[in-house]
Amino acid sequence: MSETLFSKIIRREIPADIVYEDADVVAFRDINPQAPRHVLFVPRRPVATLNDLGDADATLIGRLVLAATAYAKAEGFAEAGYRCVINCNGDGGQTVYHLHLHLLGGRPMHWPPG
Ligand code: 5GP
Repeated sequence: MSETLFSKIIRREIPADIVYEDADVVAFRDINPQAPRHVLFVPRRPVATLNDLGDADATLIGRLVLAATAYAKAEGFAEAGYRCVINCNGDGGQTVYHLHLHLLGGRPMHWPPG
């Protein structure tokens, strides 16, 4: 896959407000937040989309989700609630082809999404 700007953020070649990182995952605030809390959880490994994950990636996707839930708990908005979203390809609304989980919180969410 061709590299996206998220790899440059992970390598700190372009600026971002990084709020969490570990061996597998980096998280930074979305540049165009759709909620008071909007953080992107990104695997360091540049997987393009959900469709590119296989059985060997079960731990990686688990770590992505657990990093997001741990962040919501640590930041104090887990009890109020939040939403996790992974957009996939065109119909899913994906614009950056480096897998990422959106963590949105700080306001009530609506259903169905747009
Ligand atoms: P997608 O539409 O692929 O699910 O989400 C991509 C997200 O990346 C969007 O919410 C968009 O605002 C965010 N984004 C795009 N470019 C940048 C950037 O340069 N920095 C940060 N922090 N977020 C970005």
